[in-house]
Amino acid sequence: MSLEDLEKIKEEIPYESPVNPVELTLDSEFQFHCHKDISCFNECCKNIDITLMPYDIQRLKRREGISSSEWVAKYTMPFPMDAHDMPGLKLATRPGSTACVFLRPEGCSVYEDRPTACRYYALGSMGVRKQGAAEVEDVYFVVRESHCKGHEEPRTQTVREYLVEQGLVEYDEKNREWRDIVLKKRSSGPTVGKPTPRSMQLFDMCSYDIDNFRAFLESPGFSEVFDIDQQEKRELTEDEDRLFQFSCRFLKQVLYGEMSIDVHAEAKQRRLQRRKERLDENQAGDLPGK
Ligand code: SF4
Ligand code: SF4
Repeated sequence: MSLEDLEKIKEEIPYESPVNPVELTLDSEFQFHCHKDISCFNECCKNIDITLMPYDIQRLKRREGISSSEWVAKYTMPFPMDAHDMPGLKLATRPGSTACVFLRPEGCSVYEDRPTACRYYALGSMGVRKQGAAEVEDVYFVVRESHCKGHEEPRTQTVREYLVEQGLVEYDEKNREWRDIVLKKRSSGPTVGKPTPRSMQLFDMCSYDIDNFRAFLESPGFSEVFDIDQQEKRELTEDEDRLFQFSCRFLKQVLYGEMSIDVHAEAKQRRLQRRKERLDENQAGDLPGK
C-alpha cells in the first residue's frame, strides 16, 4: 500500500470511526492503560473481529498440543482477504455469540499466547511502502471505541514501549516476511495476475498449517522436484521457526517466481514440457471447427 492509498483510506474513514487517523511513529506517545480492575474489563473480547497471523496459530496450537490443521478446524473461520480469494482466517466466536471462544469470566484463557491483534489493541498498525522505497514501513494509529475506558487512564507510553510490553517485537518479527508477501500481492494487483487455485491452496498451507507443510517437505514428491540438502531438511523439520521462514521462501517462489529453492533439472524439464503441452492443447482448442 502506498502513502497515497493511506491518505485515501484516511479520507474515507467516517467521522464516527474508532480509528484515529493520526499516524504515530515508534517514538510517539499515547495515553492508554488496560488492567484487570478497569470497569470495562473483558468488554473488548465480547464482540470480536480478529484476523489471525501465522505465528498466532503456531503459538496457540503448541499451547493446546494439537496439530495446526486441528487447531484451525476448531477455532477459526475462513474469509477471503482479497478479490482473488486469498485465504484468511478469523478467530472463532462462541456459538450464537460474538464473544471470543477463549474468553472466561476471569479474562483471556490463552493470555500468554493471545493473538497479535489482541496484543495491539488499542493500537492499530499498517505496513506502507513509500513511493520508490524498497522497504515496507510500519505506521501506527490509536483505535478509540466508546466501550474502552483504557484511554481515560492516566498512563502514557511510547508506541515502542507498548510493543515491548505486549510482546509484539517477537510477534511482528516472526510474521513480517509473511505480511510483506500479502502486501506485495495486494499492492501489485494485476501485474502479478490472478493466482491459480493450486497456488492459493499452497498459500493456505504455508500460512496456517505448519504441520502439513512439514509433512509436505518430508514427502517424496517434494524431493522429486526440489533439490534440498538432507541435513538442511532435517534441521527445518525440527525447528518450527526456521520451517516457517522456509515456507515463506517457498511461497515467494510459488507466487512471485522468486527462485531461492533449487529445482532439479529433470523437474524443470518436466514442468516446461507440461506447460508446452497445455499451450498446445489451448491453441488446438482455438482452431476453427473445434
Ligand atoms: S484471545 Fe483472549 S484477548 Fe484475544 S479476544 Fe480472545 S479472550 Fe480476548
Ligand atoms: S481497557 Fe479496553 S482493552 Fe482493556 S479490557 Fe477495557 S475495553 Fe478491553
